[in-house]
Amino acid sequence: MTNQTEKVAEPTKVLFEGRYRKLVRDLPQTIFYCPSCKGRGCEKCEGFGKLTKDSVQELIARVAMPWLKARRNKFHGAGREDMDVRMLGSGRPFVFEAMKCKRPMIDLEELRAEINRRNEGRIELLDFKFCNRKRVVELKETRCPKDYRARVRFEEEVLPRDIDRALSSLVEQGRLTVLQTTPSRVAHRRANIERERWIEIIEYEANASDWLVTLRSAHGTYIKEAISGESGRTKPSLSELLGSPCVCVELDVLNILEAENPK
Ligand SMILES: [Zn+2]
Repeated sequence: MTNQTEKVAEPTKVLFEGRYRKLVRDLPQTIFYCPSCKGRGCEKCEGFGKLTKDSVQELIARVAMPWLKARRNKFHGAGREDMDVRMLGSGRPFVFEAMKCKRPMIDLEELRAEINRRNEGRIELLDFKFCNRKRVVELKETRCPKDYRARVRFEEEVLPRDIDRALSSLVEQGRLTVLQTTPSRVAHRRANIERERWIEIIEYEANASDWLVTLRSAHGTYIKEAISGESGRTKPSLSELLGSPCVCVELDVLNILEAENPK
């Protein structure tokens, strides 16, 4: 008879959830495989297989995987921001899934503290807890409006007084419906259809030669394109509404708000 406690546990799957804040503009959410070789390594990526050294996923995995003695992992985000967009506020929910863990019982709070300690100034992780597969589905189905702050730069000379007046009028108008065609930069991986979204200009201020615009938008709105218009792929765009072509040169997610249609 073997003692119950001496039995070697089968490698098991561990899922935990949390939220991440991303404080830098050079970090993708998940492993950024080279699009030419899909990770196998080629001339374009100098055999590396990836286009960035790190991602939120890898910064977590680098600590979590040896702790869990796990073989592989998956990262499930509640949506994602572009690599150059910071994720501020109370962070973005995610589930980290580790497969074939030989040591599944770890102290998640200690793990969280250790990842934060090793990545200070880059990412900050909040509220870890164990979860099950159902959370991944919930995360993917939840549709949340978001608050953003965009640094907007005009491509032609503008009179600050005119921009101030136009932005002030947009704040008063409240919710603006926009029609958005899939941006060309993601059209290769998303269906190219027109979607109705909304944006609300909340506040704004002049900052050096740019304008800092705080706005709220519907789940799934492409903000950079809603500002530039991308040659009419978003109608109307901020460029169109302000009567002068402008682009978003920096973007932060300030917060992810409560779901519009909680299940
Ligand atoms: Zn490659």
